Amino acid sequence: MKNTILLTLILFGAMLTRAQLKTRSYIIDPQLAPREHNVDFQHLRLELSFLPAQGLVKGKATHIFTPLRPRVDSIWLDAIRIRFSSVKVNGKDAKFKVSKDSSGYWIFCPQSLAWETKDSMSIMYECNPRRGLYFIGWNDPDNLSRKQIWSQGQGIDNRNWIPMYDEMNDKMTTEMIVKFEKGYKVLSNGTKLSSKEKDGMITWHYKMKHPHAPYLIMLGIGVYDILQTKSKTGVPMYLYYYPEWKDRVEITYKYSEMMMDWFEKEIGIPYPWESYSQIPVQDFMFGAMENTTATLFGDFFLVDDRSFNDRNYVGVNAHELAHQWFGDYVTARSDAHHWLQESFATYYNQMFEREVFGMDYFNWARRTAQVNSIEESKKNKLPVAHSESGSVRHYPKGAFVLNMLKNVLGGREVYNKCIKHYLQQHPYGNVDTEDLLVACEEVTGMELDWFFEEWVYKGGEPAYSVTYKEVNGLTEIIVMQVQELSEVTGLPVQSSVPGNSVSTADFIGLPGESVYRPAGLWKMPIWFEVHYTDGTVDKKLQWIEMQTEVVKIANPSGKKIDYILFDPNNEVMKSVSFAKSWDMLRSQALKAASMLDRFDAVAAMKDIPVRQKRDVLLQVFEKESFHAVKVEIIAQLAADDDDKTIALFKKACSDKETLVRRAVIE
Ligand SMILES: [Zn+2]
Repeated sequence: MKNTILLTLILFGAMLTRAQLKTRSYIIDPQLAPREHNVDFQHLRLELSFLPAQGLVKGKATHIFTPLRPRVDSIWLDAIRIRFSSVKVNGKDAKFKVSKDSSGYWIFCPQSLAWETKDSMSIMYECNPRRGLYFIGWNDPDNLSRKQIWSQGQGIDNRNWIPMYDEMNDKMTTEMIVKFEKGYKVLSNGTKLSSKEKDGMITWHYKMKHPHAPYLIMLGIGVYDILQTKSKTGVPMYLYYYPEWKDRVEITYKYSEMMMDWFEKEIGIPYPWESYSQIPVQDFMFGAMENTTATLFGDFFLVDDRSFNDRNYVGVNAHELAHQWFGDYVTARSDAHHWLQESFATYYNQMFEREVFGMDYFNWARRTAQVNSIEESKKNKLPVAHSESGSVRHYPKGAFVLNMLKNVLGGREVYNKCIKHYLQQHPYGNVDTEDLLVACEEVTGMELDWFFEEWVYKGGEPAYSVTYKEVNGLTEIIVMQVQELSEVTGLPVQSSVPGNSVSTADFIGLPGESVYRPAGLWKMPIWFEVHYTDGTVDKKLQWIEMQTEVVKIANPSGKKIDYILFDPNNEVMKSVSFAKSWDMLRSQALKAASMLDRFDAVAAMKDIPVRQKRDVLLQVFEKESFHAVKVEIIAQLAADDDDKTIALFKKACSDKETLVRRAVIE
């Protein structure tokens, strides 16, 4: 991208003013630093034709670039097993040498290049890619398969069919000119400038207006019809489908236009590209891929009305659309910050699903994230911001963390302001985690290092043990942090040695503090609720940061407690043990406002004899609409042969939720 140098200087300046640079996790990340390159690639023009039955690509790639050094004599291109036939630099023949492992080429410039000049390089080549570009069905002896060619560039596979610097820290505008047999549709990134027919072949020309990262370059070829529509703000949308499956288009792409409107409003920045296409392909190895302006997805999502409830494209559709901002418009500078793509896409797809499927659905997604994250932490304590921390951290845990960040910032409105500012600071650029932190701090004036330390740069989750007692007109809730203490989890302990942010000692006094705090504790604001039998409630928000904290809630008139909630609605990712009496569980299961709190009360009844809990569970079942609570009740009553339970099972057999019906059968 053109302004790389300027951007770096601005960032560097901004970072110098910070006391510490915290762009690294506490566990070494081999992918922390972005890769080096000596030229800035600015534009790629790709001209392609194919011999599909041979899986052969014939190409010409023309790069426009600018040196980033005072003198450049050679340039590296990633090109795995690509066969170069000629290379020209600024129109003159250039020598080139393939690397020993066939991963790319060194191009030797016929004349040294100086910085800030605009240079060009063109490569004539052929390849039979084993990855990155896939030929589907061209050699099917029974001629039953669809015939398609499609690409999957992420992480670093586009270099198998395009010779280029294939790294996300250098963005460029791209254009693709593809010659292909008539009868097929060709899709690539950007605007379709033309499709001209000659001698039974059509030449398709697509071009991007704005720069994007190399892994987002895409190509899709097959037999399709296209439904053209547009958002309220006029973004052209092209929905590809197989001509014989016209009846599946509407249900598959349900909410697509509404989604675009919703995202533009929620994110606060108009859709950053010229158009948006979605194309299904056969045999796709993932769910979908957010190629810039052109999402490609597995055709198993093309559903009819009957299977819509079981497997629909809504969440994935929203996820990939969110990536057009988070991933495509702003792109992680290195893989260490991959979560800036996936956690955001997951957060926004969950927020959109909340819009159409409701709050319970959203909360259950967060709960599932919590369960899976805690399970993952048993294997290792890798943090969200780490290239190797895996999909549970990069997707759902990171999304949960963003939701917590939203709470800490003060809610959806201020969160949205921060995210808008973050995007506005880096249009079509690269970002790392520090950029997000700085943006939040600039908008709110808050100091948020601690939050990013705990939840992004460090791994693990807190575990709380909660008890309570009533003393002299007070309800005292005692909260203990009982997670395994570690230097790579929780809140870091500041050392008394200046410049040392993390101490190796387990216990160390903070300057000016008389209390000792071990490394690995969490600091979070947590809500407490005491519900009384007269229907009133006391609520209190308190920071929990020491190993043991006592939360005091006044109850001068000695009202009878109905039930107590620690972190109602499970806003904080954690595990918790809080033993509650049968009376409390019953009240919580029947009365708590949040589905998650009702679910937890029911789940806590697991070991209570059926004869004691049956009537309560039947009552809860009648009131509940969300499947998770119903499924839990069915599981707990599975062995019960009481008439009332049998009647409930019969009724549950025709429940509108598949998961509930399935639970009865199982
Ligand atoms: Zn994604």
